[in-house]
Amino acid sequence: MRVLVSGAGVAGPVLAYWLTRHGFAVTVVERAPAVRRTGGHAVDLFRPALRISAQMGVRAQIEERATGTRRLTVYPEGAARPVRADLSKIFGAASDGHLEVMRDDLSAIYHDAACDDVEYLFDDTVTAVGSDGAVRFERAAPRRFDLVIGADGLHSRVRRLVFGEESRFTAFIGAHLAVLTLPNRDGLDGELRMHVGVGRTAGLYGARHLGDARVLFLFRSATPFAGGRHDVTRQKEAVRRAFGALHPEVDRWLEELDRTPAFYFDAITQLRMDRWSRGRVTLVGDAGYCPGPAVGGSTSLAVVGAYVLAGELARAGGDHERAYPAYERVMAEHVRASRAGGLSAARTLLPASRLGVRGLAEGARLISALPARPGRALLRLAARNSRRHDALPLPDYPSGVVRN
Ligand SMILES: Cc1cc2nc3c(=O)[nH]c(=O)nc-3n(C[C@H](O)[C@H](O)[C@H](O)COP(=O)(O)OP(=O)(O)OC[C@H]3O[C@@H](n4cnc5c(N)ncnc54)[C@H](O)[C@@H]3O)c2cc1C
Repeated sequence: MRVLVSGAGVAGPVLAYWLTRHGFAVTVVERAPAVRRTGGHAVDLFRPALRISAQMGVRAQIEERATGTRRLTVYPEGAARPVRADLSKIFGAASDGHLEVMRDDLSAIYHDAACDDVEYLFDDTVTAVGSDGAVRFERAAPRRFDLVIGADGLHSRVRRLVFGEESRFTAFIGAHLAVLTLPNRDGLDGELRMHVGVGRTAGLYGARHLGDARVLFLFRSATPFAGGRHDVTRQKEAVRRAFGALHPEVDRWLEELDRTPAFYFDAITQLRMDRWSRGRVTLVGDAGYCPGPAVGGSTSLAVVGAYVLAGELARAGGDHERAYPAYERVMAEHVRASRAGGLSAARTLLPASRLGVRGLAEGARLISALPARPGRALLRLAARNSRRHDALPLPDYPSGVVRN
C-alpha cells in the first residue's frame, strides 16, 4: 500500500518510520528544501514519546542533543530580586520522563531513523488531493496513493484542501508568541532566564551544542495580529510594543530584533476539530489537533499520534475505514485534555494580575524546593491535568503485517 505523508517535521518522520516497519511504502513530501538542522525552538518530549523514541532506537541520540536546561531564574516585574528554581524538578513533578530538545534536532533524528526506507520529496508541496487518492504536486508529476496523511503542521495545506479554510477550525486563545535568535553573549548554559509581567513573559535559553540563544516571547492580546503572516516588520513592532519597559535586559533582547537571522511570530491558536479523517485522508500532530504552540505539550502529542495512527493502520491491514476511527478513538480524550491543559498553561505563563506574576515565580520556587510527592501535589493544585502527558495511551501493535 502506498501512503503519502505531507510534512517532515516531527509527526511526519515518526509516522514514516512506523509505517515502513509495518510494511507500507511511504513517500514524504516536505516544503523545505532539506531536513532542517539549524535548531528552531525548544520542544518537550514526555514519557510516552520517549518510550516510542526508545523503540525507534533513537533515545540516546535525543539525550545527546537535549538542551540541558535545568535551572530557572524568574524576574517578576518590579521585584527587587529574582526567584531561582530547579526546572528539572518542576518537569519531574509533571512527568516521570522529560527531555527538552530543539525541534530541528528532533526532526533530523527521526528523519535519519528511516530515511533509507522512505522516499522523501523535498522542496515540494501538495496542490490537490482527489477522493480516489490522486495527488497533484507543485513540482513532482501527479501520482495516486492509497492513503494521504497531513502532517504539515498548524497551518496544514492538506487540511485546507480536504476540510476547508483554517479559520473554521481554529480558536485564538488571546495570546501571541514570537521567537528571536540572538548571540549567546552571556554564555548562558543550562539556564532559562524569564522576565514575567502582567500578560507578558519573555524567556532566554541556550542549548549546549548551539552557538547562539533564543528568546521566546509570549504576550496577551485581545485580538489576533491584524497584519499578514509575512509582515515581519509589523510583527516585530507588535513584540516591541508588548515588551517595552519590562526590564533593561529585555530591552537588550528587543534591540536584537533588527539584527536577528531568524524570527518567528504567530497567534496562539488551538485547533478544535472533533474528527480529523475524511475518506482516504487523515491528519496527524499539529495539523489535526494542535492544542496551541508552546503551551500544550503538542510535540509529545504529535509523536504519540503518529505511532498510534501507524499502529491502527497496521492492525486493520491498511483498511482506513476501520483504522482512522480507531485512531481517533484512541487519541480523542488526550486531544481534549491537551486543549484544556493548553488553556490552563497559557493562563499560568501569562498572569492576568501582579498577584499572578508573584504566584508564578513563587509556585516555581516551591515546587522545586519540595520533595517529589508534595511537589507533584502542589503542581496538581496549580494546574489542572498537570500529569496529562504521561496519561497518553501506548497500545502495542503488530509489525510487518501489510503487503505491498
Ligand atoms: C515558537 C514555538 C514554540 C514551541 N514550543 C514548544 C514547546 O515548548 N514544547 C512543545 O512540546 N512544543 C512546542 N511547540 C510546538 C511544536 O513545535 C509542535 O507541536 C511540533 O513541532 C509538532 O510537530 P508536527 O510534525 O505536527 O508539525 P511541525 O513540526 O510544524 O512540522 C510540520 C512540517 O510540515 C512542513 N510543511 C508545512 N506546510 C507544508 C506544505 N504545504 N507542504 C509540505 N510540507 C509542509 C513544515 O515545513 C514542517 O516541516 C512550539 C511551537 C512553536 C512554533
